[in-house]
Amino acid sequence: MRRDLSELERFLGYSFSDNSLLRNALTHRSVSSENNERLEFLGDSVLNFVIAAELFQNYSRAPEGDLSRLRASLVNKETLVKVAQKLDLGDFIFLGSGELKSGGFRRKSILADALEAIFGAVYLDAGFDVCKQLILRLYEPWLSAGVDIERLKDPKTRLQEYLQSRRQVLPEYEVVEAFGKPHAQTFKVKCTVVGLDHEIYGIGSSRRKAEQQAAEAMLEILTQKP
Ligand code: MN
Repeated sequence: MRRDLSELERFLGYSFSDNSLLRNALTHRSVSSENNERLEFLGDSVLNFVIAAELFQNYSRAPEGDLSRLRASLVNKETLVKVAQKLDLGDFIFLGSGELKSGGFRRKSILADALEAIFGAVYLDAGFDVCKQLILRLYEPWLSAGVDIERLKDPKTRLQEYLQSRRQVLPEYEVVEAFGKPHAQTFKVKCTVVGLDHEIYGIGSSRRKAEQQAAEAMLEILTQKP
C-alpha cells in the first residue's frame, strides 16, 4: 500500500544515487534505531542556513531583527508540513505498527521531521548546491510571497518604533488589575504615552499578552486617519 519511492523522487525533482539515504530519511524512530533523527538534525541546519542566506541577499537593507523574524516566519513546522503535504510525504514514511494505527503518517511533527531529514539526505547524497536548489524550489511560493516585515513584529515593538520615529516619549505599561485564581490569572494593563491623552487598556492571560494587546490598540488609535 505504500507508494514507490521513485514517485517521491519525481515529486522532489531529485533522484538519489544512494537510495539507502532516502530510506533512512523516511524511517521514523518507531521502526528502528537506525532512524531519521540524525538526518533531521543535519537537514534542519541546512534549511536554516539556505533560507538565511537567501533572505540576506533578497533583503539587503533589513536589519538583523527583521531577518530573524522573516526566517522564523518561513522556517517553522507549519511551512514544513505544507511542503510535506504537497509532496504526499505521509504516503512514503516508514512507521512502526503502533504509529501506523494511530495515524502517525498524518502527524505534523512526523511529516516536518521527515522533510528535514530528506534535506539532510540530499545534502549527503549530492552536496550543498543541489540541496540548496531543492530547498529554494520547494520554498519558492513562500519566498516570493513578499512578507510584510512590519506585521512580523509584535505590537509593543511596533508601537515603540512608531513613537521613536516621531521623537516621542516611549509608552508606559502598568498592571492595574489581576484577577482569577493564582494559576489562571487574567491581567489588565494600562498603556499610556506621555503627552497623549489616550489611556488604553489590554487584557490577557499574562502580563505580556495584556501589554501586547494594549500596544496594538494604542497603535490603532495613533495611526487612525482623522
Ligand atoms: Mn524537526
